[in-house]
Amino acid sequence: MGYNVSSIAMIGCRIDKHKLYNKVETPPCEHTIPDNANFCPECGVLNSPKEDYIAVADFDEDYNVDGFHFIRPNYYEEFFIVGRIVCTTGRDGNLAFLSSQFLNLPSVKEELKTFLEKFDLWDELAFGLYAIKEESA
Ligand SMILES: [Zn+2]
Repeated sequence: MGYNVSSIAMIGCRIDKHKLYNKVETPPCEHTIPDNANFCPECGVLNSPKEDYIAVADFDEDYNVDGFHFIRPNYYEEFFIVGRIVCTTGRDGNLAFLSSQFLNLPSVKEELKTFLEKFDLWDELAFGLYAIKEESA
Protein backbone atom coordinates (compact mmCIF):
# COMPACT_ATOMS: atom_id res chain seq x y z
CA MET A 1 0.00 0.00 0.00
CA GLY A 2 1.21 3.44 -0.88
CA TYR A 3 -0.06 6.85 -1.66
CA ASN A 4 -1.52 7.07 -5.14
CA VAL A 5 -2.73 10.03 -7.05
CA SER A 6 -4.26 9.94 -10.47
CA SER A 7 -6.41 12.18 -12.54
CA ILE A 8 -9.28 11.81 -14.92
CA ALA A 9 -10.30 14.16 -17.71
CA MET A 10 -13.98 13.95 -18.46
CA ILE A 11 -16.24 15.58 -20.98
CA GLY A 12 -19.60 15.85 -19.37
CA CYS A 13 -22.06 17.67 -17.18
CA ARG A 14 -21.97 18.48 -13.50
CA ILE A 15 -25.20 17.20 -11.94
CA ASP A 16 -26.38 17.66 -8.37
CA LYS A 17 -26.53 14.39 -6.46
CA HIS A 18 -30.15 14.87 -5.42
CA LYS A 19 -31.22 15.03 -9.09
CA LEU A 20 -29.80 11.55 -9.66
CA TYR A 21 -31.89 9.93 -6.95
CA ASN A 22 -35.62 9.90 -6.32
CA LYS A 23 -36.89 9.56 -2.79
CA VAL A 24 -39.39 6.72 -2.52
CA GLU A 25 -41.45 6.17 0.62
CA THR A 26 -42.91 2.77 1.42
CA PRO A 27 -45.14 1.78 4.34
CA PRO A 28 -43.31 0.44 7.43
CA CYS A 29 -45.11 -2.93 7.24
CA GLU A 30 -47.83 -4.71 5.28
CA HIS A 31 -50.62 -3.95 7.79
CA THR A 32 -53.14 -1.11 7.73
CA ILE A 33 -52.10 1.41 10.38
CA PRO A 34 -54.50 4.18 11.48
CA ASP A 35 -53.09 7.61 10.51
CA ASN A 36 -52.94 8.84 14.10
CA ALA A 37 -51.30 5.69 15.52
CA ASN A 38 -47.63 5.85 16.53
CA PHE A 39 -47.17 2.11 16.12
CA CYS A 40 -48.73 -0.66 14.04
CA PRO A 41 -51.41 -2.36 16.20
CA GLU A 42 -50.54 -5.75 14.71
CA CYS A 43 -46.74 -5.96 14.65
CA GLY A 44 -45.74 -2.94 16.74
CA VAL A 45 -43.48 -1.32 14.14
CA LEU A 46 -43.08 2.47 14.31
CA ASN A 47 -45.63 4.19 12.05
CA SER A 48 -43.08 5.94 9.89
CA PRO A 49 -42.57 5.33 6.18
CA LYS A 50 -39.30 3.76 5.03
CA GLU A 51 -37.30 6.08 2.83
CA ASP A 52 -35.30 4.79 -0.08
CA TYR A 53 -33.35 6.60 -2.71
CA ILE A 54 -33.64 5.11 -6.19
CA ALA A 55 -31.17 6.12 -8.86
CA VAL A 56 -32.84 7.64 -11.92
CA ALA A 57 -30.44 5.71 -14.16
CA ASP A 58 -29.73 2.05 -13.61
CA PHE A 59 -26.04 2.20 -12.62
CA ASP A 60 -23.96 -0.91 -12.79
CA GLU A 61 -21.25 -1.43 -10.19
CA ASP A 62 -18.85 0.82 -12.12
CA TYR A 63 -21.37 3.65 -12.25
CA ASN A 64 -21.51 3.23 -15.98
CA VAL A 65 -24.71 3.48 -17.99
CA ASP A 66 -24.69 3.09 -21.76
CA GLY A 67 -20.99 4.01 -21.90
CA PHE A 68 -21.38 7.14 -19.76
CA HIS A 69 -19.64 7.33 -16.40
CA PHE A 70 -21.05 8.83 -13.23
CA ILE A 71 -18.05 10.07 -11.23
CA ARG A 72 -18.27 11.68 -7.83
CA PRO A 73 -15.04 13.66 -7.36
CA ASN A 74 -14.90 12.60 -3.73
CA TYR A 75 -17.19 11.04 -1.19
CA TYR A 76 -18.23 14.36 0.33
CA GLU A 77 -19.15 16.16 -2.87
CA GLU A 78 -22.82 16.79 -3.50
CA PHE A 79 -22.50 16.36 -7.23
CA PHE A 80 -21.43 13.93 -9.91
CA ILE A 81 -19.79 14.50 -13.26
CA VAL A 82 -21.63 12.48 -15.88
CA GLY A 83 -20.03 11.89 -19.24
CA ARG A 84 -17.16 10.25 -21.07
CA ILE A 85 -13.75 9.70 -19.53
CA VAL A 86 -11.33 10.86 -22.21
CA CYS A 87 -7.98 10.64 -20.41
CA THR A 88 -6.53 9.24 -17.21
CA THR A 89 -3.13 9.48 -15.56
CA GLY A 90 -1.73 7.50 -12.70
CA ARG A 91 -0.08 4.12 -12.88
CA ASP A 92 1.79 4.76 -16.11
CA GLY A 93 3.00 8.27 -15.46
CA ASN A 94 1.92 11.84 -15.07
CA LEU A 95 1.01 12.74 -18.59
CA ALA A 96 -1.91 11.61 -20.67
CA PHE A 97 -2.70 12.75 -24.13
CA LEU A 98 -5.63 12.19 -26.41
CA SER A 99 -5.20 13.35 -29.96
CA SER A 100 -7.87 15.69 -31.23
CA GLN A 101 -8.25 13.18 -34.07
CA PHE A 102 -9.99 10.89 -31.58
CA LEU A 103 -11.92 13.55 -29.72
CA ASN A 104 -15.06 14.40 -31.60
CA LEU A 105 -16.53 16.93 -29.19
CA PRO A 106 -19.76 17.73 -31.10
CA SER A 107 -20.54 14.02 -31.33
CA VAL A 108 -19.84 13.38 -27.62
CA LYS A 109 -22.00 16.38 -26.76
CA GLU A 110 -24.92 15.17 -28.88
CA GLU A 111 -24.72 11.64 -27.48
CA LEU A 112 -24.58 12.87 -23.89
CA LYS A 113 -27.42 15.32 -24.50
CA THR A 114 -29.63 12.55 -25.89
CA PHE A 115 -28.72 10.30 -22.95
CA LEU A 116 -29.33 12.90 -20.23
CA GLU A 117 -32.54 14.24 -21.75
CA LYS A 118 -34.11 10.83 -21.07
CA PHE A 119 -33.76 11.67 -17.36
CA ASP A 120 -34.44 15.40 -17.78
CA LEU A 121 -30.85 16.10 -16.65
CA TRP A 122 -29.27 17.87 -19.62
CA ASP A 123 -27.74 21.21 -18.68
CA GLU A 124 -26.08 23.11 -21.53
CA LEU A 125 -24.23 25.49 -19.19
CA ALA A 126 -22.80 22.64 -17.10
CA PHE A 127 -21.40 20.83 -20.12
CA GLY A 128 -17.64 20.99 -20.57
CA LEU A 129 -14.28 19.50 -19.74
CA TYR A 130 -13.64 18.48 -16.13
CA ALA A 131 -10.39 17.37 -14.51
CA ILE A 132 -10.79 15.24 -11.42
CA LYS A 133 -7.98 14.34 -9.04
CA GLU A 134 -8.20 11.03 -7.24
CA GLU A 135 -6.15 10.22 -4.17
CA SER A 136 -5.87 6.95 -2.33
CA ALA A 137 -3.62 5.61 0.38
ZN1 LIG B 1 -47.53 -4.04 11.01
